[in-house]
Amino acid sequence: MSNPFNNAMAQLDKAAKIMDLDSKIHDVLRAPERVLTISIPVKMDDGSLNVYTGYRSQFNNALGPYKGGIRYHWNVTLDEVKALSFWMMVKCATVNIPMGGGKGGVIVNPKELSPEELERLSRGYVRGVWRDIGSDKDVPAPDVYTTPQIMGWMRHEYEKLVGHEDPGVITGKPLDQGGSEARSYSTAQGGVYCTRELTNKMGWNPAETTVAIQGFGNAGSFMAKILHKLGYKIVAVSDSKGAIYRAEGLDPESVHKVKMESRELKAVYCEGSVCEVVDHEKITNEQLLELDVDILIPAALENVITKENAPNIKAKAIVELANGPTTPEADEILKEKGITIVPDVLANAGGVTVSYFEWDQNVKGEHWSEEDVLQKLEKIMVDAFHEVWNTKDKYSIDMRTAAFVKAIERVSAVMKERLGV
Ligand code: NAD
Repeated sequence: MSNPFNNAMAQLDKAAKIMDLDSKIHDVLRAPERVLTISIPVKMDDGSLNVYTGYRSQFNNALGPYKGGIRYHWNVTLDEVKALSFWMMVKCATVNIPMGGGKGGVIVNPKELSPEELERLSRGYVRGVWRDIGSDKDVPAPDVYTTPQIMGWMRHEYEKLVGHEDPGVITGKPLDQGGSEARSYSTAQGGVYCTRELTNKMGWNPAETTVAIQGFGNAGSFMAKILHKLGYKIVAVSDSKGAIYRAEGLDPESVHKVKMESRELKAVYCEGSVCEVVDHEKITNEQLLELDVDILIPAALENVITKENAPNIKAKAIVELANGPTTPEADEILKEKGITIVPDVLANAGGVTVSYFEWDQNVKGEHWSEEDVLQKLEKIMVDAFHEVWNTKDKYSIDMRTAAFVKAIERVSAVMKERLGV
């Protein structure tokens, strides 16, 4: 498995060369400004004590407070968290919102924890990082296997420690605890705006545009449902247990229903799988990635499109809803094959954009309607899509490099002023 931080740095180097980035700024951007490693002791329900390792990487705050989710996963590594925090910096700058890049993670299989243990872990994480977060410093959010409820516990723990209210310390909160309208599906909605703009650029008709989506969690399931409503033909979806395929198109709403009905509730996670849908062909996640579709949407984990499977990818375009799903080697192969990639830093930026709206509402004491949120989100995403598309054309580069060039132009302009270089 390739190292995500090395991949992130390879992407930085590529963009730096094209834009002729100042070498001093380039050096500063090769490492996070600060990384915290914390040890989180958690009293388990049976009276034993488990100790978990957590991280927070604060990559860069030139454009605003560090911003980025907290991931609970057994494969979390420091290099992964650092890479994700770098991509958050690029992402916020790509869509031009006043936030920097940060990310957190805990090495844990959260599905093995009871709700009480999960709450103690989440509060323990905040006790490890609270001095370094805050609405004016670093604003975490949900990521893989972290939920609005977890964000609510974290906000509460933080406010107990600092002794005052600060709803903007964390985003992705439940609506009644300072959350924003539309936050739950904002990552997917942003991806949908990008997919729509891409479809227009390609001259495709949504009804004839086939789509395969890997991952049926927060990002992937909403993406499937919204695209289906817009008339796209979703032919395959998957989760960690496998994939289902239906050439005539499937109805993500009913897949979701079956998944939910077949679930066994354990803690706060759904144990059902898309594979419970009996009347669709079962395929593997590997086969899903190699389907002959117009648009492939990776919406699970990073490093799923590699130099090994890239030669077999048949999709005409890839919309990266997951973070870092394509390795740099695979990127080169896909470019040679003429496959257009809408990169993660643009395609999944709807989540952080509405997180920024949530933070903005919290610090101003406002609550915006869902319509307002969607209108603002659409403008930001559509503007960013076209800016990246035009930069791609200007330099004859791929969309990922174009997004990096735009983003790093913005970050480096502020850093030059700050550092006097
Ligand atoms: P989630 O936990 O809700 O869902 C993850 C999904 O991926 C689940 O369906 C899971 O079964 C599936 N999965 C896990 N391992 C898999 C594997 N090996 N093969 C296929 N499927 C697998 O997480 P999410 O919030 O939807 O995040 C998914 C991706 O989107 C991540 O890369 C995350 O960083 C990115 N992302 C999420 C948000 C957000 O707001 N949720 C924002 C930006 C980016």
